[in-house]
Amino acid sequence: MPSNSSVVFRDVLVKYGMVTALDGLDLEIPEKGVFGLLGRNGAGKTTAIRAITGLVWLSAGILNVFGENPWKRGFPRDRISVLFAEDGLGPSLTVLENLRVWAGFHGYKKEKAGILAREIIRKLGIEDLKQTRVSDLSTGNRRIVAVARTFMLPSDMVVLDEPTSSLDPVRASEIREAIKTLSKSRLVLLSTHNLSEAEELCDTVAIVDSGKLILSGRPGELDSASAGNYAVKTEESPLLFRGESYSPGEHGSVIINCTDSPADVLSELIASGNRVIEFKQYRKNLSSILM
Ligand code: ATP
Repeated sequence: MPSNSSVVFRDVLVKYGMVTALDGLDLEIPEKGVFGLLGRNGAGKTTAIRAITGLVWLSAGILNVFGENPWKRGFPRDRISVLFAEDGLGPSLTVLENLRVWAGFHGYKKEKAGILAREIIRKLGIEDLKQTRVSDLSTGNRRIVAVARTFMLPSDMVVLDEPTSSLDPVRASEIREAIKTLSKSRLVLLSTHNLSEAEELCDTVAIVDSGKLILSGRPGELDSASAGNYAVKTEESPLLFRGESYSPGEHGSVIINCTDSPADVLSELIASGNRVIEFKQYRKNLSSILM
C-alpha cells in the first residue's frame, strides 16, 4: 500500500444478494485533509464507508485501512469514528450526559470523560445546549451534537455519512461550519451528494457512480478533469468495450473511463456490436452526475 494513503480500495466488489453496490471500486484516501465521497443516491457511498468500518464483506478485491484488513480480528476500531444517518444519541439523556456516556463507553474514566465532553461543547460554542435533553433538541441542533460526539475522542479518521442530508439550508450551513471548525488537523471522510458542500469543505473529492470511481481530484479541478468519462446505455446488456464486458449499474448506465474523443469512443462501441441508446460525456457538467 502506498505510504501516503490511509485507505486503499482495489477492484472492490460488494453485493447485497443480487444488488451490486460496489462494482470494481478503485479508490485511495489520503492520510490528511478532508476527503469527499460524492455520488447520487444509490451510488455506493454508504457501502464504501461500511466496508472501511468492517461492516460489510467484500465479494472480491482488496481493501486496506491504515495498512490492515478491517475485518481482521483485533483491528483497532477506535481509530475510526463514524457518524451514520442514525445518530444513536440517547433521547432521554442531556447533551452533556450523552457525550460523557460516549466517552465512558470508549474506556475513559468519569473525570476525563467530563473534560472531553466540555471541551467539545466549548469548541462548538453550544454551551447553551448542554443541559437540554436530546429529545427536546431541534433536528439541526441534534445533528450538531452528533457531529460533536463524532469528533470528541481522538481517532485517526472521522467519517461523516451525509451529515447535512434532510436539513434545511440554514441548519446545513451550521453543520458545515461545525465540521470546518473540527476538521482542522483531522483526517475526515465526508460522504455527500451535494457538490457545493464538497467544494466548500473538501481538499480532495472522488465521485462514485454505480459502485465505480468515475473521477477524483481537487474540487475546483473536477469539471475540466471530467472530460473523458462517458455514461452509456445499450439496448441489451452487458456492454462490450475493448475486450471487456460491463454490466449496467442501478441507473442502467455503464460508466466508461477513457480519454479518447467522444466520436472515437462511440464508433468503437458501435463497431463492437453494442446497440447504443444513450451516450453522454461528463464535460463541464459535473452536477449532472450527482442528480
Ligand atoms: P444514498 O445516498 O441514497 O445513501 P449511497 O451512495 O450511500 O446512497 P448505498 O447505500 O451504498 O449508496 O447503496 C448502493 C446500492 O446498494 C443501492 O443500489 C442500494 O439500493 C443497495 N443497497 C444498500 N444497502 C442494501 C442492503 N442492505 N440490502 C440490499 N441492497 C442494498
